[in-house]
Parts: sequence; C-alpha cells; structure tokens
Amino acid sequence: MPLNPQRTIAELKELRALTGDENGAQRVAFTPVWVRTRAWLKEKLAGLPVETHTDAAGNFWATLPGESDRALLIGGHMDSVPNGGWLDGCLNVMAGVEILRRINEQYRGRPPVTVRLVDWADEEGARFSKSLFGSSACSGQLDMAEARGLKDRQGIALPEALKAVGIDFEKVKDSGVELRNAAAYLELHIEQGPVLLDLDLPLGAVLGTFGVERHAITFHGQAAHSGSTPMNRRKDAFLAAAKMSAESYAIAARSGTGVCTIGSCTTKPGIVTSVVEECRITLDQRHLDAAALGRMLADAKSASERFAAEGNVRVTWERLWQIVPRPFHPELIELCDAAIKKICPKSHRLPSGPLHDAAEVCGAGVPTVMMFVQSLHGISHNKIEDTKEEHLALCVTAFDRLASKAMEWVAVRKR
Ligand SMILES: [Zn+2]
Repeated sequence: MPLNPQRTIAELKELRALTGDENGAQRVAFTPVWVRTRAWLKEKLAGLPVETHTDAAGNFWATLPGESDRALLIGGHMDSVPNGGWLDGCLNVMAGVEILRRINEQYRGRPPVTVRLVDWADEEGARFSKSLFGSSACSGQLDMAEARGLKDRQGIALPEALKAVGIDFEKVKDSGVELRNAAAYLELHIEQGPVLLDLDLPLGAVLGTFGVERHAITFHGQAAHSGSTPMNRRKDAFLAAAKMSAESYAIAARSGTGVCTIGSCTTKPGIVTSVVEECRITLDQRHLDAAALGRMLADAKSASERFAAEGNVRVTWERLWQIVPRPFHPELIELCDAAIKKICPKSHRLPSGPLHDAAEVCGAGVPTVMMFVQSLHGISHNKIEDTKEEHLALCVTAFDRLASKAMEWVAVRKR
C-alpha cells in the first residue's frame, strides 16, 4: 500500500511553519493567511487527477471521479481560531489528501465510487462568533437572517467580509448541490478533550455530537442593607442561584454521560454592602440522547423553582440557543470501530461534546461518522495542542482503512 502517514505529519509541520507563529496557528477564515493556506492545499493536490472548485459558500472540494457517481466524502477545515493549535481541522484535511493519493494509486485514477475531499469554510467562527458557517450553508441549516446581521469587532458585516473573498452571501445555500450524490461522510479530528488520554488509548469511534440546551436563568430578589437586614428577612437572589451550581453537578451525574456548565454569573446591584437583588446565571447542558437532554432541562427548571420558593425569590428562564443531538450512522460507527481495532488492541466509543462540521452533514441526512485521535493535555484551541507523532501515524492508517471499508459500504448500499 502506498499510504504514507509520515508524509502527512511532514506536511502538517510544513503548514505550521507557513501559517503559524510563536502564539500558534493563525489560519482565521477569510484572512490572507487562510487564502494562502488554500493555495498551499491546491499545490498538494496538483499531482492528482482531481477536479477542484470552491462552492457558493466558500467550501473547497477536490473530486476523484469513480465508476459510480455515488460519493464518499472526507472532510475537515483548514481554518483555525487565532493562536490555535497546529492539528485542529487541518489534520482531517491532510489525512484526506493522503487517502486520495492512496485510492488514486490503488485504482489507477478510477475508484469504484467517487471520492471527494472537502475543506469547509469558517468552521471555527472565530471572527463572527458563528461556527460551522460553510457546512451549515451546505446543509441548508444556516439561519440567513441571523447570519446577515453578524458583525466582527471592526463592525464589518459577514456579507461584506465574504464579498472580499468572492462569495455572494445571498447565494451561499446554493452550495447544497454538493451533497447531491453524497453517500457517506467521514471526519477525523483530534479529540479536544481528555477522555482517550485518561484511558491511554490512541483512537476512538465517535457516536455523535451532543445536543445543546443553553439558557439564562435569572433570580429576582430584593436589595437590602447588609448590616440592617436579619438573615431570615432576606430575599437573596444569589443564594438561590448558588444552589444551582451544586445541583447542576447532580443533574449531570444522574444523566449518565451528559454535562452541565454554569459559565457566567452576574449580580445586581453588585456591591459589597447589599443583598443581591438580581442574579443571572447561564446554564449550558449537553447530551447525546434527546430524551435525556430533555430530562436534564426539566430537572434544572424544577430545581430552580424549588430554590426560588425556598428563598422567597422569583425565577425566570430565557433560552439562548439550542441544537438537537446528532447521533452518527450505526453501521459506520461499527466500521470505524473495526478499523481502529485492526491496528490498535482496543477501541473506545465516545460522544463529541464540541460540535463539528460532521454534525451539519449528518443533519442533512448523509450517513456520517467521525474518528477521534488522542489529544495530549486534552487541550485544544491553544498553541499547546498536540498529539504524539506515533498516534498521528496510527490515525491516518486507521482512517484510511475506514475510508476503504466505507467505499465498499457505499458501493453495495442502495440509494
Ligand atoms: Zn476543528
């Protein structure tokens, strides 16, 4: 087999030298460095008989046509957050390039099914605080009204920024045509968390991406002098809110694999000599199972009402954002697990807490699976993000095997 994982590692290092600095990767979408990254990627594909183009949403596609127009898609994103890690997103794309080389060689330029590599545009949403831009435009799930109003810190609107790189915002959903013959979608990614690290395993099969319920919870009490108000006479909004902290850990524990985060807490009047009149916290809840996520939310609501009643305060809820869980395709999860076990003694199945472009493709109805490789330190979106080189080589090999099996799967599966 001509697959050469060491070449992928060397290319990732080359990319790091070209697009990073002492603070990390600087491939923020739609910037000159990102444009240069794309040009570099095209050079890497130059020796292959692939058709390449950029779609209406700025996603870059490289297609190796096969006997059948049914297509296996391999995806990733070359963009990074500012001061990002050297592997997030580009590992997926560069492994895909190597797999295209192997498939092209093995089938002398004509594989049984079409194989397509996609570099999604602006996965990170670093500039406009809107993740998964290119893939959500392609899947049709992008909220056009919301996206039209997004502005960066300089006040530049998203449609204006897109125009500067030749993309017409009003037409971005035309990119949906790219999924017409999509029969399966594969994405490799660093885990970005510590699960595989703690298990001392290099690779894992991803079960899907978590659904998210994100709310602001506000407790309304009464401001009162901190010296003159006896403890039993207080309507302390902070006391009720604080009880939610411990409760969120209990709710997560009861849910099995769900997580809850109270990430923000603000108080009014917010002075040292007053009982808190108003306390606003944010609660982010995630689970792979929609029913379990619903129970987590209902539990949090009833707990907040109980704590409000105990403290003689009122509580109000406001939904900030939500997304449904995206469980991946069961047969592709099996193939992924088997591909890992072929080269590692053990595999592990885990959900993804972070969202990925795979969630959008899955939401568009394309059978999808992801493979995770261990992150050292369990850290991402940081220049210290890293993975052992031996694990990088393993993941390219295992992902290539998954691609082979997925091609067979696509070839025999009915439309
Ligand atoms: Zn990523």
